Amino acid sequence: MDSFMAQQSLQTQQASALSEFRHTTTGVRHTKIVGTLGPSSSDEGTLRELIRAGLNVARLNFSHGDHETHRKNADLVRRIAREEGRTVAILQDLQGPKIRCGKLLNGAMTILSGASYILEFGSEQTDPGIIPIDYRELVKDVSVGHRVMMDDGLLVFSIDEIMGNNVRVTAAEGGMLKSRKGVNFPDSLLSLPAMTEKDSRDLLFGISLGVDFIALSFVQSEADIHMIKKMIKALGADIPVIAKIEKISAMNDIHQIARAADGLMVARGDLGVEASVERVPGYQRQILAAAAAAAKPAIIATQMLESMIENPRATLAEIADVANGVLDGADCLMLSGEVASGKFPVECVQTMAAIIDEVEQWTFRRPVRYAMDLNEDDARWEDHEAVARAACEAADAIEAKLIVCLTLTGSIARLMARWRPRTPILAISPRRDVIEKLAIVWGVYGLQSPLFYNTDVLLADLPNLLKNLGLVNSGETVVITAGIPINQVRPTNMVKINRIP
Ligand code: PGA
Ligand code: MN
Repeated sequence: MDSFMAQQSLQTQQASALSEFRHTTTGVRHTKIVGTLGPSSSDEGTLRELIRAGLNVARLNFSHGDHETHRKNADLVRRIAREEGRTVAILQDLQGPKIRCGKLLNGAMTILSGASYILEFGSEQTDPGIIPIDYRELVKDVSVGHRVMMDDGLLVFSIDEIMGNNVRVTAAEGGMLKSRKGVNFPDSLLSLPAMTEKDSRDLLFGISLGVDFIALSFVQSEADIHMIKKMIKALGADIPVIAKIEKISAMNDIHQIARAADGLMVARGDLGVEASVERVPGYQRQILAAAAAAAKPAIIATQMLESMIENPRATLAEIADVANGVLDGADCLMLSGEVASGKFPVECVQTMAAIIDEVEQWTFRRPVRYAMDLNEDDARWEDHEAVARAACEAADAIEAKLIVCLTLTGSIARLMARWRPRTPILAISPRRDVIEKLAIVWGVYGLQSPLFYNTDVLLADLPNLLKNLGLVNSGETVVITAGIPINQVRPTNMVKINRIP
């Protein structure tokens, strides 16, 4: 392929990531945004606005919605992303062994503090005094005095008596209980499988949709990750797994889970209930540190802009929480009910993007992670790990405009991102799925190009190509990495510094 053809070809490939690069005048937004789709965000107009506002990952929450709705949403995300020239990844979030209350008679009921209620296995309420719970072993696994929490800990009960096939509880903290809200038993040891039958069916469906990531809820140990990965492989797919950290047992196994999984989620809602809410900020930092050590992306989830479900403006506390998520080093910040069922889904993404942009601007000159010993467990680094770090340090030191990595699998981009370089990373890969999987990684944007296989042309012409695409100007510098010779599929072994002619 000659250089003219190369240029033409790359230009026709420019669609996706490039509009993200041009989106802000101050450079790219490094911290990514995950938004959960639901009734408030599934119509074409709103979804388009969300993507324009900067949504990087669409989360399909399999705790809610039927397969048809999820399929419709996934198709819509893909079509709009293509039309808007954006990369938007799709994250399937499996419910896992989450216990919920059943469908309530009027969709909701008032729980009075001090009043007694009966909890019983079931999926639909038939008697207003009995709360159905979709957990068959309920009576076997709990003891008198254990706490029961509902709706992310909003409602608190304590168990008074265990009867034949139900338990009697007293509400310590009342409020409004709605149908299908989550139920936690923080004091009880539950005999639940890591994946339910519904999860297996949903997994098979997610694979058929071609989702980019699969998140598993209520992971208890590293073994759960190996189990789901084995299932995915047996189904003929290769999809990264995000471990949702929302159990104390997962906190105790966090480094092993970080190594086994492809990413971590700080699932603060259930974590706050399973542990206690005061522990969540500390756990958040521990989870992010484990993710950084393993070079895996991490997502902070739940209640980031909670009050915006009802109001067009966030509280100062929420704004500080989003800012602190950026400062703590998350790859992604996630919106749940705010986007899925709130009144101001688009404003939520805009608000989050604005806070991230602001914090990233004033932290731009702060030292990044080079001072951290992220490889503490390994005596010797792999060659490509060393190259990743060298490329980041060089790019930051010479104030390069871009780090460009030519990559088949995307792993070099993740290894770079964990150093949190100031310089944005452009990953060029022939694989569309790899580009999409990089959508959750901090500071990385992707460009799909078949040119990858023609390294000679690509390396020689890249500066010109980048200039013609409007990504860099004459006199600016880019740092390029590749594994050469590329047709031998080598790990990255080269760093090249190029001044744009
Ligand atoms: P969920 O997970 O929204 O699926 O419950 C996140 C959390 O628990 O915070
Ligand atoms: Mn959860």
